Amino acid sequence: MNYYSLNKKAPITSFKNAVIKGLAPDKGLYFPEQITPLPESFFENIDDLSNVEIAYQAIKQFVVPDIPETILKQIIEETLSFNFPIVKLNESISTLELFHGPTMAFKDVGARFMARCLGHFNKDNKQQITVLVATSGDTGGAVANGFLGVKGVNVVILYPKGKVSDVQEKQLTTLGQNITALEVDGVFDDCQDMVKRAFLDEELTNKMQLTSANSINVARWLPQLFYFMFAYKQLYKTYKEIVFSIPSGNFGNVCAGMMAQQLGLPIKHFIASNNENSVVTRYLNTGDYKPNASIQTISNAMDVGNPSNFIRIQEIYNNNFKTLKENLSSYSFTDKETKLALAEVYNQYSYIADPHGAVGYLGSKNYLKENPNVHCVFLETAHPTKFLDVVEDVINEKLDLPPQIEAIIDKKKVAINISDYNDLKHFLLSEDI
Ligand SMILES: *Cc1c(COP(=O)(O)O)cnc(C)c1O
Repeated sequence: MNYYSLNKKAPITSFKNAVIKGLAPDKGLYFPEQITPLPESFFENIDDLSNVEIAYQAIKQFVVPDIPETILKQIIEETLSFNFPIVKLNESISTLELFHGPTMAFKDVGARFMARCLGHFNKDNKQQITVLVATSGDTGGAVANGFLGVKGVNVVILYPKGKVSDVQEKQLTTLGQNITALEVDGVFDDCQDMVKRAFLDEELTNKMQLTSANSINVARWLPQLFYFMFAYKQLYKTYKEIVFSIPSGNFGNVCAGMMAQQLGLPIKHFIASNNENSVVTRYLNTGDYKPNASIQTISNAMDVGNPSNFIRIQEIYNNNFKTLKENLSSYSFTDKETKLALAEVYNQYSYIADPHGAVGYLGSKNYLKENPNVHCVFLETAHPTKFLDVVEDVINEKLDLPPQIEAIIDKKKVAINISDYNDLKHFLLSEDI
Protein backbone atom coordinates (compact mmCIF):
# COMPACT_ATOMS: atom_id res chain seq x y z
CA MET A 1 0.00 0.00 0.00
CA ASN A 2 1.24 3.46 -0.85
CA TYR A 3 0.57 6.60 1.08
CA TYR A 4 0.14 10.16 -0.14
CA SER A 5 0.60 13.43 1.63
CA LEU A 6 -2.55 15.38 2.46
CA ASN A 7 -0.71 18.54 1.40
CA LYS A 8 -0.48 16.91 -2.06
CA LYS A 9 2.97 18.35 -2.73
CA ALA A 10 5.12 15.30 -1.97
CA PRO A 11 5.62 12.03 -3.86
CA ILE A 12 3.64 8.96 -2.80
CA THR A 13 5.59 6.63 -0.57
CA SER A 14 5.61 3.16 0.98
CA PHE A 15 4.31 2.19 4.43
CA LYS A 16 7.91 1.73 5.50
CA ASN A 17 8.95 5.20 4.48
CA ALA A 18 5.79 6.78 5.91
CA VAL A 19 6.56 5.18 9.28
CA ILE A 20 10.24 6.13 9.29
CA LYS A 21 9.60 9.72 8.21
CA GLY A 22 6.43 10.35 10.23
CA LEU A 23 5.50 13.41 8.21
CA ALA A 24 5.78 13.91 4.43
CA PRO A 25 8.49 16.28 3.09
CA ASP A 26 5.76 18.88 2.37
CA LYS A 27 4.80 18.62 6.09
CA GLY A 28 1.52 16.89 5.21
CA LEU A 29 0.09 13.89 7.05
CA TYR A 30 0.25 10.59 5.19
CA PHE A 31 -2.96 8.85 4.13
CA PRO A 32 -3.41 5.41 2.48
CA GLU A 33 -4.08 5.51 -1.26
CA GLN A 34 -6.87 2.97 -1.06
CA ILE A 35 -9.23 1.50 1.51
CA THR A 36 -10.70 -1.83 0.42
CA PRO A 37 -13.67 -2.95 2.55
CA LEU A 38 -13.53 -6.40 4.13
CA PRO A 39 -16.20 -8.92 3.05
CA GLU A 40 -19.57 -8.72 4.80
CA SER A 41 -19.09 -12.26 6.07
CA PHE A 42 -16.13 -11.04 8.10
CA PHE A 43 -18.41 -8.82 10.19
CA GLU A 44 -21.28 -11.33 10.28
CA ASN A 45 -19.02 -13.94 11.85
CA ILE A 46 -16.68 -11.67 13.75
CA ASP A 47 -17.35 -13.35 17.09
CA ASP A 48 -15.77 -16.54 15.74
CA LEU A 49 -12.45 -14.71 15.36
CA SER A 50 -9.77 -13.96 17.94
CA ASN A 51 -8.70 -10.35 18.47
CA VAL A 52 -5.38 -11.13 16.80
CA GLU A 53 -7.12 -12.55 13.72
CA ILE A 54 -9.48 -9.54 13.50
CA ALA A 55 -6.61 -7.10 13.80
CA TYR A 56 -4.54 -8.95 11.23
CA GLN A 57 -7.32 -9.03 8.63
CA ALA A 58 -8.15 -5.38 9.25
CA ILE A 59 -4.67 -3.88 8.97
CA LYS A 60 -3.01 -6.25 6.48
CA GLN A 61 -3.82 -4.18 3.39
CA PHE A 62 -2.13 -1.10 4.86
CA VAL A 63 1.09 -2.83 5.89
CA VAL A 64 1.90 -5.83 3.66
CA PRO A 65 4.29 -6.32 1.82
CA ASP A 66 6.51 -3.79 3.63
CA ILE A 67 6.10 -6.08 6.61
CA PRO A 68 5.75 -9.75 5.58
CA GLU A 69 2.56 -11.52 6.67
CA THR A 70 4.18 -13.84 9.24
CA ILE A 71 6.04 -10.98 10.89
CA LEU A 72 2.92 -8.81 10.90
CA LYS A 73 1.05 -11.58 12.71
CA GLN A 74 3.80 -11.82 15.29
CA ILE A 75 3.82 -8.02 15.78
CA ILE A 76 0.05 -8.05 16.33
CA GLU A 77 0.27 -10.94 18.79
CA GLU A 78 2.87 -9.08 20.84
CA THR A 79 0.95 -5.80 20.63
CA LEU A 80 -2.38 -7.25 21.78
CA SER A 81 -1.23 -9.11 24.88
CA PHE A 82 -4.08 -7.77 27.06
CA ASN A 83 -7.89 -7.52 26.99
CA PHE A 84 -10.38 -4.93 25.74
CA PRO A 85 -13.51 -5.65 27.79
CA ILE A 86 -16.93 -4.04 27.39
CA VAL A 87 -18.62 -3.08 30.67
CA LYS A 88 -22.34 -2.47 30.39
CA LEU A 89 -23.70 0.40 32.51
CA ASN A 90 -27.32 0.10 31.33
CA GLU A 91 -29.31 -0.91 28.23
CA SER A 92 -28.23 2.23 26.36
CA ILE A 93 -24.64 2.80 27.51
CA SER A 94 -21.54 0.62 27.72
CA THR A 95 -17.89 1.46 28.05
CA LEU A 96 -15.00 -0.14 26.20
CA GLU A 97 -12.02 -0.33 28.54
CA LEU A 98 -8.82 0.47 26.67
CA PHE A 99 -6.60 0.74 29.74
CA HIS A 100 -5.45 -2.80 30.39
CA GLY A 101 -2.06 -2.36 28.75
CA PRO A 102 1.30 -1.72 30.44
CA THR A 103 0.86 2.06 30.91
CA MET A 104 -2.93 1.90 31.34
CA ALA A 105 -3.72 4.31 28.52
CA PHE A 106 -5.22 3.46 25.14
CA LYS A 107 -2.07 4.73 23.47
CA ASP A 108 -0.30 1.49 24.42
CA VAL A 109 -1.63 -0.35 21.36
CA GLY A 110 -0.45 2.25 18.84
CA ALA A 111 2.90 2.72 20.57
CA ARG A 112 3.61 -1.02 20.79
CA PHE A 113 2.63 -1.61 17.18
CA MET A 114 4.68 1.30 15.89
CA ALA A 115 7.73 0.33 17.96
CA ARG A 116 7.73 -3.17 16.51
CA CYS A 117 7.28 -1.93 12.94
CA LEU A 118 10.18 0.46 13.34
CA GLY A 119 12.29 -2.23 15.00
CA HIS A 120 11.61 -4.50 12.01
CA PHE A 121 12.47 -1.83 9.44
CA ASN A 122 15.65 -0.93 11.24
CA LYS A 123 16.90 -4.39 12.13
CA ASP A 124 19.76 -4.47 9.61
CA ASN A 125 20.37 -0.77 9.49
CA LYS A 126 23.53 0.61 11.03
CA GLN A 127 22.09 4.09 11.54
CA GLN A 128 20.05 4.46 14.67
CA ILE A 129 16.59 6.02 14.50
CA THR A 130 15.79 8.59 17.16
CA VAL A 131 12.15 8.94 18.14
CA LEU A 132 11.61 12.43 19.49
CA VAL A 133 8.33 13.04 21.25
CA ALA A 134 6.72 15.75 23.34
CA THR A 135 4.14 14.68 25.88
CA SER A 136 1.52 16.29 28.07
CA GLY A 137 1.36 13.04 30.02
CA ASP A 138 0.09 9.81 28.49
CA THR A 139 1.90 9.65 25.15
CA GLY A 140 5.33 9.67 26.78
CA GLY A 141 4.66 6.70 29.03
CA ALA A 142 3.10 4.59 26.30
CA VAL A 143 5.92 5.40 23.86
CA ALA A 144 8.64 4.79 26.45
CA ASN A 145 7.16 1.46 27.39
CA GLY A 146 6.37 0.41 23.82
CA PHE A 147 9.89 1.15 22.56
CA LEU A 148 11.81 -0.13 25.57
CA GLY A 149 14.59 -2.44 24.41
CA VAL A 150 13.78 -2.10 20.68
CA LYS A 151 17.14 -2.43 18.89
CA GLY A 152 18.30 0.41 16.67
CA VAL A 153 15.79 2.87 18.09
CA ASN A 154 16.47 5.52 20.71
CA VAL A 155 13.66 7.44 22.33
CA VAL A 156 13.89 10.98 23.66
CA ILE A 157 10.84 12.28 25.50
CA LEU A 158 10.27 15.92 26.41
CA TYR A 159 7.81 16.66 29.19
CA PRO A 160 6.88 19.86 31.01
CA LYS A 161 8.35 20.03 34.52
CA GLY A 162 5.71 19.79 37.23
CA LYS A 163 2.83 19.52 34.74
CA VAL A 164 2.37 15.75 34.49
CA SER A 165 0.93 13.55 37.24
CA ASP A 166 3.30 11.62 39.55
CA VAL A 167 2.32 8.32 37.98
CA GLN A 168 2.86 9.69 34.49
CA GLU A 169 6.29 11.09 35.43
CA LYS A 170 7.42 7.75 36.88
CA GLN A 171 6.27 5.98 33.69
CA LEU A 172 8.55 8.25 31.66
CA THR A 173 11.61 8.50 33.82
CA THR A 174 12.27 5.12 35.38
CA LEU A 175 12.85 2.78 32.44
CA GLY A 176 16.45 3.47 31.42
CA GLN A 177 17.97 1.51 28.49
CA ASN A 178 17.15 3.25 25.18
CA ILE A 179 14.75 5.76 26.76
CA THR A 180 15.83 9.26 27.85
CA ALA A 181 13.50 11.72 29.57
CA LEU A 182 14.12 15.46 29.22
CA GLU A 183 12.40 17.59 31.82
CA VAL A 184 11.65 20.98 30.28
CA ASP A 185 11.33 24.25 32.16
CA GLY A 186 8.10 25.26 30.47
CA VAL A 187 4.67 24.08 29.41
CA PHE A 188 3.62 21.38 26.94
CA ASP A 189 3.51 23.84 24.03
CA ASP A 190 7.20 24.64 24.64
CA CYS A 191 8.06 20.94 24.41
CA GLN A 192 6.01 20.60 21.25
CA ASP A 193 7.67 23.66 19.68
CA MET A 194 11.15 22.33 20.40
CA VAL A 195 10.31 18.99 18.80
CA LYS A 196 8.90 20.70 15.71
CA ARG A 197 11.99 22.86 15.46
CA ALA A 198 14.28 19.84 15.68
CA PHE A 199 12.51 18.18 12.73
CA LEU A 200 13.18 21.29 10.62
CA ASP A 201 16.80 21.71 11.74
CA GLU A 202 19.00 20.44 8.91
CA GLU A 203 22.09 20.37 11.04
CA LEU A 204 20.32 17.70 13.08
CA THR A 205 18.48 15.88 10.32
CA ASN A 206 21.67 15.55 8.25
CA LYS A 207 23.33 13.79 11.16
CA MET A 208 20.53 11.65 12.50
CA GLN A 209 17.29 9.98 11.44
CA LEU A 210 14.59 11.65 13.52
CA THR A 211 10.97 10.50 13.65
CA SER A 212 7.91 11.21 15.78
CA ALA A 213 5.66 8.81 17.65
CA ASN A 214 2.39 10.64 17.99
CA SER A 215 -0.77 9.89 16.05
CA ILE A 216 0.43 11.72 12.95
CA ASN A 217 2.54 8.57 12.39
CA VAL A 218 0.45 6.04 10.44
CA ALA A 219 1.85 3.12 12.44
CA ARG A 220 0.55 4.65 15.66
CA TRP A 221 -2.74 5.83 14.26
CA LEU A 222 -4.03 2.89 12.18
CA PRO A 223 -3.94 0.11 14.84
CA GLN A 224 -6.45 2.12 16.86
CA LEU A 225 -9.11 0.96 14.40
CA PHE A 226 -8.94 -2.44 16.13
CA TYR A 227 -10.78 -1.13 19.20
CA PHE A 228 -13.99 -0.50 17.29
CA MET A 229 -13.97 -4.02 15.90
CA PHE A 230 -13.31 -5.53 19.34
CA ALA A 231 -16.27 -3.59 20.76
CA TYR A 232 -18.53 -4.57 17.87
CA LYS A 233 -17.61 -8.23 18.32
CA GLN A 234 -18.82 -8.11 21.93
CA LEU A 235 -22.06 -6.24 21.23
CA TYR A 236 -23.46 -6.92 17.76
CA LYS A 237 -25.49 -9.94 18.70
CA THR A 238 -27.36 -7.85 21.30
CA TYR A 239 -27.56 -4.36 19.79
CA LYS A 240 -28.28 -3.46 16.18
CA GLU A 241 -27.32 0.21 16.13
CA ILE A 242 -23.98 0.94 17.74
CA VAL A 243 -22.68 4.47 18.28
CA PHE A 244 -19.22 5.34 19.64
CA SER A 245 -18.52 8.27 21.92
CA ILE A 246 -14.83 9.08 21.82
CA PRO A 247 -13.06 11.41 24.25
CA SER A 248 -11.01 13.41 21.75
CA GLY A 249 -7.91 15.59 21.70
CA ASN A 250 -5.90 15.21 18.51
CA PHE A 251 -8.76 13.22 16.94
CA GLY A 252 -6.56 10.23 16.06
CA ASN A 253 -8.92 7.83 17.79
CA VAL A 254 -12.12 9.10 16.15
CA CYS A 255 -10.39 9.09 12.82
CA ALA A 256 -9.26 5.47 13.34
CA GLY A 257 -12.89 4.55 14.11
CA MET A 258 -13.88 6.11 10.81
CA MET A 259 -11.26 3.95 9.07
CA ALA A 260 -12.91 0.88 10.66
CA GLN A 261 -16.23 2.11 9.25
CA GLN A 262 -14.63 2.55 5.81
CA LEU A 263 -13.51 -1.07 6.07
CA GLY A 264 -17.19 -1.99 6.41
CA LEU A 265 -17.70 -2.13 10.17
CA PRO A 266 -21.39 -1.28 10.74
CA ILE A 267 -21.05 1.77 12.97
CA LYS A 268 -24.15 3.95 13.10
CA HIS A 269 -22.58 7.21 14.23
CA PHE A 270 -19.60 8.82 15.97
CA ILE A 271 -19.60 11.29 18.83
CA ALA A 272 -16.48 13.35 19.46
CA SER A 273 -16.69 14.20 23.15
CA ASN A 274 -14.55 17.16 24.12
CA ASN A 275 -13.60 19.19 27.13
CA GLU A 276 -13.55 22.97 26.78
CA ASN A 277 -11.13 22.68 23.89
CA SER A 278 -14.06 22.80 21.54
CA VAL A 279 -12.80 23.67 18.05
CA VAL A 280 -14.59 20.73 16.39
CA THR A 281 -17.84 21.20 18.33
CA ARG A 282 -17.91 24.79 17.11
CA TYR A 283 -17.03 23.75 13.58
CA LEU A 284 -19.94 21.30 13.35
CA ASN A 285 -22.30 23.96 14.68
CA THR A 286 -21.12 26.85 12.52
CA GLY A 287 -19.07 25.49 9.59
CA ASP A 288 -16.20 27.67 10.74
CA TYR A 289 -12.93 25.90 11.66
CA LYS A 290 -11.06 28.14 14.08
CA PRO A 291 -8.18 26.62 16.08
CA ASN A 292 -7.42 28.08 19.51
CA ALA A 293 -4.61 28.04 22.03
CA SER A 294 -5.21 25.05 24.29
CA ILE A 295 -7.09 25.42 27.58
CA GLN A 296 -5.95 23.43 30.62
CA THR A 297 -8.57 21.01 32.02
CA ILE A 298 -8.83 17.94 34.28
CA SER A 299 -8.96 15.71 31.16
CA ASN A 300 -5.54 16.97 30.15
CA ALA A 301 -4.79 14.46 27.40
CA MET A 302 -7.51 16.24 25.42
CA ASP A 303 -6.19 19.77 25.91
CA VAL A 304 -5.58 20.34 22.23
CA GLY A 305 -6.47 23.59 20.49
CA ASN A 306 -5.70 22.50 16.93
CA PRO A 307 -6.28 18.75 16.49
CA SER A 308 -3.70 17.35 14.08
CA ASN A 309 -5.81 14.48 12.71
CA PHE A 310 -8.85 16.51 11.77
CA ILE A 311 -7.47 16.88 8.26
CA ARG A 312 -7.57 13.10 7.88
CA ILE A 313 -11.23 13.10 8.89
CA GLN A 314 -11.95 15.69 6.23
CA GLU A 315 -10.19 13.50 3.68
CA ILE A 316 -12.32 10.49 4.64
CA TYR A 317 -15.45 12.54 3.98
CA ASN A 318 -14.04 14.18 0.84
CA ASN A 319 -14.21 17.55 2.54
CA ASN A 320 -17.99 17.29 2.43
CA PHE A 321 -19.37 19.09 5.47
CA LYS A 322 -22.84 17.58 5.08
CA THR A 323 -21.72 13.90 5.03
CA LEU A 324 -19.34 14.58 7.88
CA LYS A 325 -22.17 16.04 9.96
CA GLU A 326 -24.37 13.03 9.25
CA ASN A 327 -21.68 10.76 10.67
CA LEU A 328 -20.21 12.82 13.47
CA SER A 329 -21.69 14.75 16.37
CA SER A 330 -19.57 16.69 18.82
CA TYR A 331 -20.23 18.09 22.27
CA SER A 332 -18.03 19.93 24.76
CA PHE A 333 -18.17 19.80 28.53
CA THR A 334 -16.74 21.83 31.39
CA ASP A 335 -14.62 20.41 34.21
CA LYS A 336 -17.55 20.92 36.54
CA GLU A 337 -19.82 18.80 34.34
CA THR A 338 -17.07 16.19 34.06
CA LYS A 339 -16.75 15.87 37.84
CA LEU A 340 -20.53 15.58 38.20
CA ALA A 341 -20.47 12.82 35.58
CA LEU A 342 -17.71 10.96 37.46
CA ALA A 343 -19.88 11.09 40.58
CA GLU A 344 -23.03 10.05 38.69
CA VAL A 345 -21.37 7.05 37.06
CA TYR A 346 -20.02 5.98 40.44
CA ASN A 347 -23.26 6.47 42.35
CA GLN A 348 -25.63 5.01 39.76
CA TYR A 349 -23.53 2.19 38.33
CA SER A 350 -20.72 1.67 40.88
CA TYR A 351 -18.30 2.28 38.02
CA ILE A 352 -15.18 4.37 38.45
CA ALA A 353 -14.46 6.34 35.30
CA ASP A 354 -11.46 8.57 34.66
CA PRO A 355 -11.99 12.21 33.64
CA HIS A 356 -11.60 11.41 29.92
CA GLY A 357 -14.06 8.52 30.08
CA ALA A 358 -16.46 10.76 32.01
CA VAL A 359 -16.44 13.22 29.11
CA GLY A 360 -17.23 10.29 26.79
CA TYR A 361 -20.11 9.27 29.07
CA LEU A 362 -21.53 12.80 28.89
CA GLY A 363 -21.34 12.72 25.09
CA SER A 364 -23.29 9.44 25.06
CA LYS A 365 -25.99 10.89 27.29
CA ASN A 366 -26.39 13.98 25.13
CA TYR A 367 -26.71 11.97 21.94
CA LEU A 368 -29.21 9.54 23.48
CA LYS A 369 -31.59 12.41 24.26
CA GLU A 370 -32.30 12.79 20.54
CA ASN A 371 -31.59 9.18 19.52
CA PRO A 372 -32.96 6.96 22.29
CA ASN A 373 -32.88 3.68 20.33
CA VAL A 374 -29.17 3.28 19.77
CA HIS A 375 -26.55 1.68 21.99
CA CYS A 376 -23.71 4.07 22.88
CA VAL A 377 -20.23 2.86 23.71
CA PHE A 378 -17.94 5.41 25.30
CA LEU A 379 -14.23 4.67 25.25
CA GLU A 380 -12.45 4.53 28.61
CA THR A 381 -9.09 5.82 27.42
CA ALA A 382 -7.14 5.74 30.71
CA HIS A 383 -7.31 3.99 34.07
CA PRO A 384 -8.75 6.20 36.85
CA THR A 385 -5.65 5.80 39.05
CA LYS A 386 -3.68 7.83 36.50
CA PHE A 387 -5.74 10.80 37.66
CA LEU A 388 -5.81 9.89 41.32
CA ASP A 389 -6.27 13.38 42.79
CA VAL A 390 -9.34 14.27 40.77
CA VAL A 391 -11.03 10.89 40.96
CA GLU A 392 -10.48 10.24 44.69
CA ASP A 393 -11.65 13.72 45.49
CA VAL A 394 -14.90 13.34 43.54
CA ILE A 395 -15.92 9.84 44.62
CA ASN A 396 -14.56 10.16 48.14
CA GLU A 397 -12.86 6.77 48.11
CA LYS A 398 -9.26 5.61 48.05
CA LEU A 399 -8.38 3.71 44.88
CA ASP A 400 -6.21 0.59 44.87
CA LEU A 401 -3.16 0.88 42.65
CA PRO A 402 -3.06 -1.69 39.86
CA PRO A 403 0.13 -3.82 39.58
CA GLN A 404 1.43 -1.85 36.55
CA ILE A 405 1.52 1.27 38.70
CA GLU A 406 2.65 -0.39 41.94
CA ALA A 407 5.66 -1.64 40.02
CA ILE A 408 6.98 1.82 39.14
CA ILE A 409 5.73 4.21 41.77
CA ASP A 410 8.73 3.76 44.11
CA LYS A 411 11.37 3.67 41.39
CA LYS A 412 13.91 6.45 41.11
CA LYS A 413 13.24 9.17 38.58
CA VAL A 414 16.06 9.87 36.10
CA ALA A 415 15.64 12.93 33.87
CA ILE A 416 17.85 15.57 32.29
CA ASN A 417 16.78 19.14 32.83
CA ILE A 418 16.68 21.43 29.79
CA SER A 419 15.39 24.95 29.38
CA ASP A 420 15.54 25.82 25.70
CA TYR A 421 16.05 24.56 22.16
CA ASN A 422 19.83 24.92 22.32
CA ASP A 423 19.91 22.55 25.28
CA LEU A 424 17.91 20.01 23.29
CA LYS A 425 20.12 20.34 20.22
CA HIS A 426 23.26 20.11 22.29
CA PHE A 427 21.96 16.96 23.93
CA LEU A 428 20.99 15.32 20.62
CA LEU A 429 24.31 16.13 18.96
CA SER A 430 26.69 15.41 21.79
CA GLU A 431 25.28 12.42 23.59
CA ASP A 432 25.75 9.04 22.08
CA ILE A 433 22.16 8.30 22.97
C1 LIG B 1 -4.48 10.83 23.97
C2 LIG B 1 -5.68 10.65 24.84
C3 LIG B 1 -6.96 11.05 24.40
C4 LIG B 1 -7.20 11.74 23.08
O1 LIG B 1 -7.03 10.90 21.97
P1 LIG B 1 -6.87 11.52 20.51
O2 LIG B 1 -6.64 10.35 19.62
O3 LIG B 1 -5.69 12.45 20.56
O4 LIG B 1 -8.14 12.25 20.19
C5 LIG B 1 -8.04 10.80 25.25
N1 LIG B 1 -7.86 10.24 26.45
C6 LIG B 1 -6.65 9.87 26.91
C7 LIG B 1 -6.53 9.29 28.27
C8 LIG B 1 -5.51 10.05 26.12
O5 LIG B 1 -4.32 9.70 26.59
